Amino acid sequence: MMRELISDCVHCGFCLPTCPTYVLWGQEMDSPRGRINLMAQRLEGEPLSPSMIRHFDQCLGCMACVTACPSGVKYDKLITQTRADIPARGLIFHLFPYPRRLRLLRWPMWLYQKATRGRRLFGRWKRLGMWESLMPPIAKKAKSTGPTRDRRATVGMLTGCVQSAFFPHVNAATERVLRAEGCDVLPFPKQGCCGALSVHSGRIEEAKRFARKLLDAIDVDGIDYFVVNAAGCGSALKEYGSLLPEDPRAEALARKVRDLSEVLVELGPVAPRRAASEVIAYHDACHLAHAQGVRAQPRALLGPVAELEEPEICCGSAGVWNLRHPEAARELGDRKARAVLATGAATVVTSNPGCLMQIRAALDRMGATVKVIHTAEHLDSMIIDRD
Ligand code: SF4
Ligand code: SF4
Repeated sequence: MMRELISDCVHCGFCLPTCPTYVLWGQEMDSPRGRINLMAQRLEGEPLSPSMIRHFDQCLGCMACVTACPSGVKYDKLITQTRADIPARGLIFHLFPYPRRLRLLRWPMWLYQKATRGRRLFGRWKRLGMWESLMPPIAKKAKSTGPTRDRRATVGMLTGCVQSAFFPHVNAATERVLRAEGCDVLPFPKQGCCGALSVHSGRIEEAKRFARKLLDAIDVDGIDYFVVNAAGCGSALKEYGSLLPEDPRAEALARKVRDLSEVLVELGPVAPRRAASEVIAYHDACHLAHAQGVRAQPRALLGPVAELEEPEICCGSAGVWNLRHPEAARELGDRKARAVLATGAATVVTSNPGCLMQIRAALDRMGATVKVIHTAEHLDSMIIDRD
């Protein structure tokens, strides 16, 4: 299978200008074509060297190369398979997929933010400085209840790990929008991480464990859609059928997974909204645009948006890539922030918690006051009549 997938690459190089690591460093081995060559060398029996591991590890998994490739090379499958042989390790994986552990951090983070009043104390240290700059403002838990218009669909919603701990207001906005558009939102309170972080880091057995737990927590037959508001999670959930081929619930759930924008466009929005009064910019999250091919739906819902230059280049968040490669992530974040500023927009909207944190941190570094919000928050703020 690897051999066939690799043989699809005709070495044309069309993917190179869209690859963030190639754009940053200009090294063939840090391009999709170079990495595919390394994979081919491994198949020919070349032992896995530290330099090979480094080049694979430096890949953001953004899948811009999948979009750019005219030969249809399935780089997503290639890198997932490769990473399964060299799974990432670290404290991060004992923290991020566990919403309860993350929630324990909310109180100390809130205290820290109060005490420092936005000052950065760890800016001199690369890794600590990156963690500090990415810390999302700890908001109060928001109410998500609201009347439901005549029911048009019954949905479940992924509450997620990072999203539920640090972005409860985004989940609440998502639920309010769904209700306003006539969706009955069933609560599935026992759900946890969907396994996206694990699967994207080559930790396949761990990803399977998370996927089985999620399937146990959801009544797959009782819903029309399973709505996701985090791009990386949506792309992993849509692949559940191949992650757990022995469990029929996995493929059944995968077929019902939709990004929030997809489900709203499929239903056709009916809730009256106010007219837009300001220009907003839209940032395509890689796992929404490249991995799921969802570009038109958010734009159809948001109305006219200012487009960013080089939209295909990742903002540098890429799951936990920014925590593991802080310097390169900072460069990519600054690049994206400059693209946002060039639009002149007062607000930038995106559909992934990682992108929200990464772009906000980069704009903060530049002293810019552009608001960075999730698509769900923007749509929620536009709805004027909820019943
Ligand atoms: S997934 Fe992104 S970083 Fe990795 S090779 Fe493709 S374009 Fe480059
Ligand atoms: S991955 Fe696709 S675009 Fe890149 S070199 Fe191979 S065939 Fe060309």
